[in-house]
Amino acid sequence: MKFISTNAQTAPTTFQQVVFSGLAADGGLFVPENIPVLSVDFLQNLSEHSLTTIATEIAAKFITDIPAVDLISIVQRALNFSIPLYPLQENQFLLELFHGPTLAFKDVGARFLAETLSYYLAQQRQSLTIIVATSGDTGSAVAHGFHRIPGINVIVLYPSGRISPLQEKQMTTLGDNIYALEIQGNFDDCQRLVKQALNDIDLVQQLNLTTANSISLGRLVPQISYYAWALAKWLPLKRNKLVNIVIPSGNFGNLTAAVYAKKMGIPIHKFIAATNANAVVPEYLQSGFFKPRSSVATYSNAMDVGNPSNFARLEAVYKKDLAAMRNEIFGVAIDDKQTLAQIAKTYAEQHYILDPHTAVGVAAAEKIAQQSCSSEDYIIAATAHPAKFAEVIESALHFAPPLPDSLAAALKREKQSIELSAEYDGLRKTLLRQLNYA
Ligand SMILES: *Cc1c(COP(=O)(O)O)cnc(C)c1O
Repeated sequence: MKFISTNAQTAPTTFQQVVFSGLAADGGLFVPENIPVLSVDFLQNLSEHSLTTIATEIAAKFITDIPAVDLISIVQRALNFSIPLYPLQENQFLLELFHGPTLAFKDVGARFLAETLSYYLAQQRQSLTIIVATSGDTGSAVAHGFHRIPGINVIVLYPSGRISPLQEKQMTTLGDNIYALEIQGNFDDCQRLVKQALNDIDLVQQLNLTTANSISLGRLVPQISYYAWALAKWLPLKRNKLVNIVIPSGNFGNLTAAVYAKKMGIPIHKFIAATNANAVVPEYLQSGFFKPRSSVATYSNAMDVGNPSNFARLEAVYKKDLAAMRNEIFGVAIDDKQTLAQIAKTYAEQHYILDPHTAVGVAAAEKIAQQSCSSEDYIIAATAHPAKFAEVIESALHFAPPLPDSLAAALKREKQSIELSAEYDGLRKTLLRQLNYA
């Protein structure tokens, strides 16, 4: 399997080159030359397979430059937590993707990418430095995913005082090969600094510097497998119905992975793209005009994205045919008021505490179910644990959600961060000093 750019200006390249370069040289996103299809035999016996078997089968279709035995151990180390399908009510199921170390679905992609990079590095006897800017969730998932991975150092830049205390503790208490840089500035400053570092050819060579952002195919490929796994759990319930997948979306990586799962043969009916007030994609599906803009802050802050970075991949799947995309994807935008109302309603009726992102998904499913009179099922991607968003839960339910042990433990640990101004020169000196290459 080779990969091409959505801008179509680069030669087909291997998975190894794709995960090390992130973005294609022509500025486009890497996509597979074609979306592979799972065998009829595998699809017919889907429900008999474990999550790791399914994930290995899918990964092997895309990653043809790693031998099967090695791919199995990469998958086993990356997906070492459960992904339950929780029956919420008559026609709704929650795919709980938040049982990884940072309690959000981003753990799946970050852990798989870390294991894959580490594998390739060991082959080449090389080391690597990863630099990322974060407004919260991505940084902690990447930091945990790469913690103690041999041959890789991770630099996380976050805006001082602008992320939740919990998110800060998740990123700054790991130590070892993880360096948390607390920047006196906002998220945009952090992103600018990362860009400057990645454009500093001398630094890039000295540190073998790269990034691990949300457009990495190394994060997308493992995400396909949990949709196949969801169907594997749902099919034996013999509901003789169609099932739709609902995805709370920001950069639309998670939705792209679900669409890939369907193209590979997983029997998903339709997709619901659920957003908060940052509704660029639902508006596109309505009007046919894609109008990226600055994001606005909402309760589901990991979805506050005004220019969804995976949109080019979605367009590529549907060959820029709006009618084809509309036929499979419905867009629904849910505002903050509806988000709080959904958290309250689901708790009152099902005694289940939704995090604000998942609440956007459940509210979208209810809206679509009301509009269409059919009795289809909905599997909603539950993207984060509610304890990560305690303030929002408190405004909806008037009590704080119980803190899982892993979060409570992180809160007790000592913060280790390096405070820096938003000037590039200081960042450069710190990187060279900390990583001992000066
Ligand atoms: C990142 C994130 C999302 C959005 O996922 P995309 O792949 O960017 O669309 C949704 N919920 C949570 C909790 C997240 O961290």
